[in-house]
Amino acid sequence: MRRRLPEWLRNKSPLAAETREVRKVLAELNLNTVCSSARCPNRGQCYAEGTATFMILGSVCTRNCRFCAVDKGPVQPPDPGEPERVVTAAARLQLRHVVITSVTRDDLPDGGASQFAKTIKLIKRRLPEVSVEVLTPDFKGNRDAILTVVEAGPDIYNHNLETVPRLYDRIRPEADYRRSLELLKLVKSHGKGLLTKSGVMAGLGETGAEIEAVMDDLLAVNCDILTIGQYLQPTKDHLPVVEYVKPAVFKEWEALAYQKGFKFVTAGPLARSSYQAGRVRTVLV
Ligand code: SF4
Repeated sequence: MRRRLPEWLRNKSPLAAETREVRKVLAELNLNTVCSSARCPNRGQCYAEGTATFMILGSVCTRNCRFCAVDKGPVQPPDPGEPERVVTAAARLQLRHVVITSVTRDDLPDGGASQFAKTIKLIKRRLPEVSVEVLTPDFKGNRDAILTVVEAGPDIYNHNLETVPRLYDRIRPEADYRRSLELLKLVKSHGKGLLTKSGVMAGLGETGAEIEAVMDDLLAVNCDILTIGQYLQPTKDHLPVVEYVKPAVFKEWEALAYQKGFKFVTAGPLARSSYQAGRVRTVLV
């Protein structure tokens, strides 16, 4: 039986006007956003702030994380016209900060890294004033694939740890905590002035000490930006919420993360990987 949402999570419905225009453009250009497939509660605000997250490489994932609402099943080959359509959408929506993410494509030799690179380069060439953030899968730790994305020149490289190492087997069994930290370390060591970012969900049974240990592990690989948000059960078939973490606890984590040395932190019940992503650019980019 799904638990009743606490009052602080009963978010106001998204700003219809913004979301309607964005949804219209995305439909016309046959583009996916993680905003809609993950049923993100912040769509209205993000769109109003000129930020949107495009999901490339299709809408079907080759993995099966227990918290994620993205479809699983047979996948299609990468669409060569997708990078062009992403740029067209970004221009039409007058976005200032574009986030590019994808499902995990373990079926592709480079995990889809070349499609990320094409999209980044096209945005940089056509919309030089727009900042680009990528939120990538782990590419199974494939060094060439990771560096293909880094060398395409994004401003922010995001790769989520999603949860604490003790819960990986139950929550994201195909992922590897150390491998993800190694990816962030490689990106930081090769990306000239590139900001790195990562995020975790709370409310899946982790302890405060484990969240703090994740902060330390990320700082040990020179990660700049951190997000911490509340896990919300997408459907009854996904992992149940263990705890609705109180807003005051997120505030404590935010203060602790800054005290430890992160450059930018977004922590709150409604925080998501790309939430307020555009604000980072005004502060750090
Ligand atoms: S790899 Fe990403 S998109 Fe795929 S199931 Fe896991 S969280 Fe969802």
